[in-house]
Amino acid sequence: MTDTANTSPQLRVVSGNSFQKPTADSPIRVIYVMGAGRSGSTALEAMLGDHEDVVAVGELNNVFSKRWQEDVHCSCGALTLQCSVWRDVQQRFCEITGLKSFHDHWEAHTKYEEFKPRSLGIPQWMRLTYAEKIGGPDVREWQARNYAVYQAVADVTGKRVIVDSTKTPIRGRVLCMTPGLDVRLVHLIRDVRGVAWSRQKAYRKNPALGLNKDNEPVPIWRSVAYWTVMNTLSSMVRTRYEDCPSLLVRYEDYTRQPLAEFARISEVVGLDYGPIAERLVAGQPVRPQHTSAGNPVRMLGAIKLSPDFEWMQKLPEADRNACWRLAGLMMRAYGYEKHPQVDQSVLGPRVQSVWDQIRAEQPSALIEERKAA
Ligand SMILES: [Zn+2]
Repeated sequence: MTDTANTSPQLRVVSGNSFQKPTADSPIRVIYVMGAGRSGSTALEAMLGDHEDVVAVGELNNVFSKRWQEDVHCSCGALTLQCSVWRDVQQRFCEITGLKSFHDHWEAHTKYEEFKPRSLGIPQWMRLTYAEKIGGPDVREWQARNYAVYQAVADVTGKRVIVDSTKTPIRGRVLCMTPGLDVRLVHLIRDVRGVAWSRQKAYRKNPALGLNKDNEPVPIWRSVAYWTVMNTLSSMVRTRYEDCPSLLVRYEDYTRQPLAEFARISEVVGLDYGPIAERLVAGQPVRPQHTSAGNPVRMLGAIKLSPDFEWMQKLPEADRNACWRLAGLMMRAYGYEKHPQVDQSVLGPRVQSVWDQIRAEQPSALIEERKAA
C-alpha cells in the first residue's frame, strides 16, 4: 500500500512479532477484522481463514441473538444449530459457563455491545469505559463469558487462531479488554464511495442464501455517516490499545496488491500468508468452512480475489460529490484521492465482484438493484 500510515498516529502501523506458530499451550489468538460493513471483510476473512492453523467463524457476536438460534445458516449449508461444529461449540460454551445457550448471554452482550447507528455507539462506549475503570463481579463474569466463546471454538475445532469479522469497533474494544486473549486488530477500510454504492443495492430476505433480512437501499448521507463513525471508532480502538498489534488495510490495496498487503498482515497477525496470497494471485479460490453469520458472500462455497470498483462506473456524479463533500477530509487522511487513478483492467465486465458471483450463481438472490430515492 502507498502507506501514509506512518505520518499520522491515527494510521499507525504496529508491527507484531515474527511468525508464531500456535501450540496447544498458546493463548487463544483472535484476528479481529474491524471497520464498516461492505468493505470486503467477508472475503478477507475467508482468505485469512484458509491458513492451516486458523479457523474463521464469521461475525461471532451474532451467536447471542435469537435470530441466530432460529434461521441463520452456516456456510456449510446447514442451519447453524444443525451444523455439527456450531452445535458442539454452543454445547462447549454451556459447559464452561453454566448457561443453557448462547442466547442466555444476550442481555449482558447488548448492554455493552449493541450498536445502534442513531446513538453512534456512545452509550456502549461509555459503559465500556466505566467497566474498565470500576470492574466488579458482573464485569468479570461478562468477560469470562466473552472468553468462553472463543475457548469453545478453539476446543471444538482444535485451532488456537480464530478470525472474527464482526467488524464493530465496540467489539474490537471488548476483545482488547478480555483477559487471556491475544488480540490482533485488522482495521479494514474501503473508499466511502464504494461502500455507499454497495449499500444502495436492495435484496430480499432469503436465509438459505445468507440474506437474513430485507436490505433496503441506504441513502448516501446515511452511508457516509455510518462509514465515518465506524472508521473513527476503529482508529480510536487502535490508539487506545497499543499493546494489541494492529494495522490498517485498504480494500483497494489488498484486492490489487495481495502479495504486499498479505505480507504486512502476516507480520501483525504472526502467521505466514505468503503462500495463500500467491494462490489468490494465481486465480485459485479460498473456501469458507463453517462461517456462521455475515455477508451472503460466505455462502458461495468458493471466493476468488476480485476487485470491485463498480462504483467508479455506476455511482452518479452528484452522489460522488456528496460523498466527497461530507467525508473528503477523512478520506484524504486515509490516503484516498478525489479522482483515483485505477488500472482499466479492474474495470469492465471481465472482472466480477463477489456480488456478481452471487448474481451469476444464485440469480434469485438479487431482487432489484436501484438507486435510493
Ligand atoms: Zn457448518
